[in-house]
Amino acid sequence: LMRRNPGQNDPHGPFATGHGISRHAELRTKLSQAIQHGAAGVLFINDPYSVAKAATDRTESITKAQAEIATLADEYLAAPDAEGDKVAAARDKLKGAVDRWKSLKASAEKPEDDGLMKFGYAGHNDGKKGLPSFHITQAQCNEMLKAALGKTLSDLETEIDSDYQPRSALLPGWKIQGTSDVKQVRADVSNVIGVLEGEGPLANETIVIGAHYDHVGRGGENSLAPGSTDIHNGADDNASGTAALLELARRLSSRPQKLPRRLVFIAFTGEELGLLGSAYYVKEPVFPLDKTIAMFNMDMVGRLNDDKLTMFGSGTSSRWEPELKALNEASGFKLAFKPEGFGPSDHSSFYGKKIPVLHFFTNNHPDYHRPSDDWEKLNVEGMFRVVEMLERMIIQTAETPERPDYIEVKQKPMAQRGGNRPYFGT
Ligand SMILES: [Zn+2]
Repeated sequence: LMRRNPGQNDPHGPFATGHGISRHAELRTKLSQAIQHGAAGVLFINDPYSVAKAATDRTESITKAQAEIATLADEYLAAPDAEGDKVAAARDKLKGAVDRWKSLKASAEKPEDDGLMKFGYAGHNDGKKGLPSFHITQAQCNEMLKAALGKTLSDLETEIDSDYQPRSALLPGWKIQGTSDVKQVRADVSNVIGVLEGEGPLANETIVIGAHYDHVGRGGENSLAPGSTDIHNGADDNASGTAALLELARRLSSRPQKLPRRLVFIAFTGEELGLLGSAYYVKEPVFPLDKTIAMFNMDMVGRLNDDKLTMFGSGTSSRWEPELKALNEASGFKLAFKPEGFGPSDHSSFYGKKIPVLHFFTNNHPDYHRPSDDWEKLNVEGMFRVVEMLERMIIQTAETPERPDYIEVKQKPMAQRGGNRPYFGT
């Protein structure tokens, strides 16, 4: 199976979304296709286009780096001797450019364009529909293709790109043998649920407030710090949401009057492994989902910066946007509304069950999924403000007699949190 998809260089081609890489390129999509067609195993190969493009990109950046050196060298030579500060600054800039060029050259000398995917790149699997999958080099693949079909991978790619027709073929005389000894380590983990009963005619309706409490441990495939075995504390992702959840539970449970609807606070587990905890909850709900009228999620609410608060799911009920705007008059956030209800956090599981959702998010940062996501970088006052606004949102939703309507938002390509969510591998 070739990776990616045909026509990556064709802006009008059938797969021309997301820089030429469509959702059909996702490894799990390819694997499920293979399973449906009765495959016994899969060998992945890098597509020649991507490998060639990586080489071109590298040459281009070396050329750019050289041009930058020339410009900065001119500036350095033009700096007047009398002004020592300017000379030193120009020299530093020049040195920076030379260093960049050197490191580009060094990586060009031993390119890993046909690099193999790291183990776990395609994410986790519950083992039920698994298929032994390997990744082989283009050289290995070409050896077989040439012997069996008299063609190379590039030939096939060019043919496919010319008419978008498959070139699947048997390789007569070739057999593959391989052993996969992946051990699945299983562990029991739990969602933690707190319930605050309501009172009155709507008391059998539920509002879920959630935040995942797991993170990525000592790194590994979900870490963005390659090779690190340092503890990843995940202060923002998602100790911030977990703390906010506890604070909301504390505040709402200390109200003298019960609310008209039931509040269910859930600290989800296994979010980082693919929304496991919330997926389990919607499969085995503690309270009926058809009477669950809304789900509010907090995942990364600890880094409020410049008052910017992103509201995912704002289009999943017609009420959300006007209500949030009104509530925000007292809160003073710069709100960014993202209508889509599906996304890489636990609200997605509930939206999949046709429940209106809102996900509070104070935006990404360079410490995301790295050991440096630590408590001293949290904006605690910002967390307080998120809690305060969400508290009013919860009370308002619990007290409004009508339940929020559910809206199906036209699905866009999946947002990739952090730009590098491993289990969206292509
Ligand atoms: Zn998270």
